[in-house]
Amino acid sequence: MIKLSKLSKEAIHAIIEDSLAFASGKRLRSKEPIFVANLFFENSTRTVVSFEMAERKLGLEVVPFSVQGSSLNKGESLRDTVKTLESLGLDLLVIRHPDDNYFHDLQDLDLSIVNAGDGTGHHPSQGLLDLVTIKQEFGSFEGLTVGIVGDVKHSRVANSDADALRRLGAKVHFSGPEDWFDQGAMMNGTYRNFDHLIPEVDVLILLRIQHERHSSKHPMASQEYLTKYGLTRSRMEMMKSGAIIMHPGPVNRGVEIESDLVECDKSRIFKQIENGVYTRMAILKHELEGRGFEFVPWE
Ligand code: ASP
Repeated sequence: MIKLSKLSKEAIHAIIEDSLAFASGKRLRSKEPIFVANLFFENSTRTVVSFEMAERKLGLEVVPFSVQGSSLNKGESLRDTVKTLESLGLDLLVIRHPDDNYFHDLQDLDLSIVNAGDGTGHHPSQGLLDLVTIKQEFGSFEGLTVGIVGDVKHSRVANSDADALRRLGAKVHFSGPEDWFDQGAMMNGTYRNFDHLIPEVDVLILLRIQHERHSSKHPMASQEYLTKYGLTRSRMEMMKSGAIIMHPGPVNRGVEIESDLVECDKSRIFKQIENGVYTRMAILKHELEGRGFEFVPWE
């Protein structure tokens, strides 16, 4: 799975249903040994640990791989490394890489690739876990208004979320610093003033400032960002009573969101993390079943 736009609506719904079944305690394991490895070329806490939790919960054989200790440090290309792992008998690789579309020349290989984030491109497992969290809360996507706010231009999460949410029937609006919003890249999404948007949303998705992708080291002071574009208590009080707050993490407390609100009643930020494990189990199952592997109940 490299991007959500390649998944049919039916496949997205099937993955959401499987995730919800795992969330309510369904336990499956692979019928035969399946070998997987996680290749992370960028920092990660949530994504790498939740993929590994998901793999172990499904009874997969997780082969340790450290980018730092690998021949990539001797100049081997990503394709040669992936081909080597294919020759060694790996069935599936989870890869995060700073280059957009790093998977471009890996797709002819005979092993599954699950994209755990490519540069500013896509983050399909985050997109799906966000859908699972929204479905759990509202039961459907039709007619929901979703606001995606922050560093839209540099966010692979914004790309994946917006694409899938629109296809499933939600209305998606964007806000944040206007010059961090790229109309074309966002499939002609609408840019809205944050204070006007906030009372309309059912779901507010806040994005981290992607400092590592900005050319200037300090794109905006934290306090200025919080005042202009962050979720302050007074903005939170303008939200509908049933509306929820999400953030893919890592959260910069006091920048994208006032620190006290991270764990407030409306926040589903830690629920997203929990759902990440179930969703990644469903993604791995979907990919591996597509390659003919079977899953059976744990005895
Ligand atoms: N964890 C998300 C990602 O890897 C969001 C972020 O880092 O801001 O894209």
